[in-house]
Formats: sequence, C-alpha cells, structure tokens
Amino acid sequence: MKWKGRRQSTNVDDARGKTMVAGTASLGLLLRFVGGRWGLKGLLVLAGIGILGVQLGLLDPAALMGGGQVKEVEYQASAEEQEQFDFVTVVLGSTEDVWAEEFQRVGQQYTAPRLVVYRSQYPTGCGVGDARMGPFYCPADQNIYIDLGFYTALEEEFDAPGDFAQAYVIAHEVGHHVQNLLGISDQVAALRNRPDYNEYSVRLELQADYLAGVWAKHNQRYLDRGDIEEAMRAANQIGDDAIQSRTQGRITPHAFTHGTSEQRMRWFGRGLQSGRIDDGDTFEMPYNKL
Ligand SMILES: [Zn+2]
Repeated sequence: MKWKGRRQSTNVDDARGKTMVAGTASLGLLLRFVGGRWGLKGLLVLAGIGILGVQLGLLDPAALMGGGQVKEVEYQASAEEQEQFDFVTVVLGSTEDVWAEEFQRVGQQYTAPRLVVYRSQYPTGCGVGDARMGPFYCPADQNIYIDLGFYTALEEEFDAPGDFAQAYVIAHEVGHHVQNLLGISDQVAALRNRPDYNEYSVRLELQADYLAGVWAKHNQRYLDRGDIEEAMRAANQIGDDAIQSRTQGRITPHAFTHGTSEQRMRWFGRGLQSGRIDDGDTFEMPYNKL
C-alpha cells in the first residue's frame, strides 16, 4: 500500500506512554470520591503520598471515566514501531476521506472516530481494554483502540503479513463506527438478550467487513500488487476461533460472533466490488444465506 507522504489523521491519540496502575478497582472509587471533593489538586496530593503503596505518578483525569487509572511512564518507541504509528494515522486519515465522501453522497454527515494507540491495558468507555482482545471499537466513546503489538501477532501467529492486512484491521473497526453513526449498532445491541443474538452479531461483523471493502475500493489507486490478497488472508485468519484459541487457549463455538473465514472474505469482496455505503445489507437475507 502506498502510504508515505499521504495525509495523516489528527484524530490519533498516542497513549503508549500511559500505563494502567495495578489494583485500581478500590483505589478508583476512593479517588473518584476524593476527586469529587477536592478536584484535581486532591488527586495529585493523593498521588504524591502514594496511597495503598501504589506510586501513582501523574494521573490522567480522563482515565477516571474508564474505571481505571493510568500513569505516565517513560516510553521510547523503536523506529519500526514509530513507522507503524505513522502508518495507522495515514490509514485512519484515508478512512476519514472515504466516509466523509460516502456519507455526503447519501445526504448525511460523517464524524470521525478517534484512534487510541495504547500498550497492554487501557481504560476505555467500554471497560478496560486489553491488548489480548485485539483492536476494537467502543461505541460508547466512539474510539478505536489498538496495541500495535497486534500487528506482530497478525503476521507471526495468524500468518497474515503485509501492510494492507494491517490497514484492513483498522478499516474494519472504522466500519463499526460507521454502523454506530447509522444507528445499526444500537439496533443490534438492543437484541442482546435474545437467544439468537450471536446471529445478529455475525451480521454486524460481516457488514463491517463489507464496509472495509468499500474503503479498499476507494483506495485502489494506492494499492500495490498483492494488497487485496493480504486483506483477504487477514479476513480469513482472524476469525473468532483463531482469536479465541489465542486469548483464552480454548475455542467456544457458541460464542462465535464474526462469521466464518469464507463469509468474511466474501463480504469484504462485495464491498470492494461495490464501493458504496448503501449496498451491504447483511440484515435482510436469511441467516443461512449470508
Ligand atoms: Zn468487528
């Protein structure tokens, strides 16, 4: 994928120098209480005395909303990792361009998500983000979270190398943001308690793959030979079963929520063929025809 020199998004937060403080559950409650009474100054006083033996360092007040505290640590990215960081900011920028255009075409306005690049663990609007979960989108705060270490896993453990495979992962998560803006995520979330909820989750995921394909279509002029195959390979390799066996060491089929590898590749391909936001209805057709 040709990406160097292209526009970088300004919606990327570098949280790689912030780390979760251990044992923040009870500490969090206390800090919220104290924080409410004394404000930020109180927090810093607490931080200074190292309550409960935890040296807090500098607290990020925003982190309190996520149910955990973070502190600043010294962090020096390798040149390779910094290039990866630059790469994802370009990819995010390209999604902003594509979706602004597509939303406008159907008479709507696009508001971009933020991409938070973190390491290991990080408080989010959807609970504590953990690198072992892989990249994810949180509808509650409209942020995408990624630990760039996932790309090493994608290449080495899922055997899906290549920059376009990496870009596809971001494009899929932005697809979830598009679904959120269109109200589709809310409709699916409302079905959470139904016994056949997983089917709706699969429909949602395949649509996100479709939307990633739409993004790819709009980026065709930047593609290198083999890029589409890289994305297809990634779609094939990062099914629920693969992620589950990696993160929990076992596979629980009843919890599958993303569709089969074949389905994921096919819906990505449909988006790539169409290039249109309004052509990927995965909710209309019977489930066994998806
Ligand atoms: Zn997804």
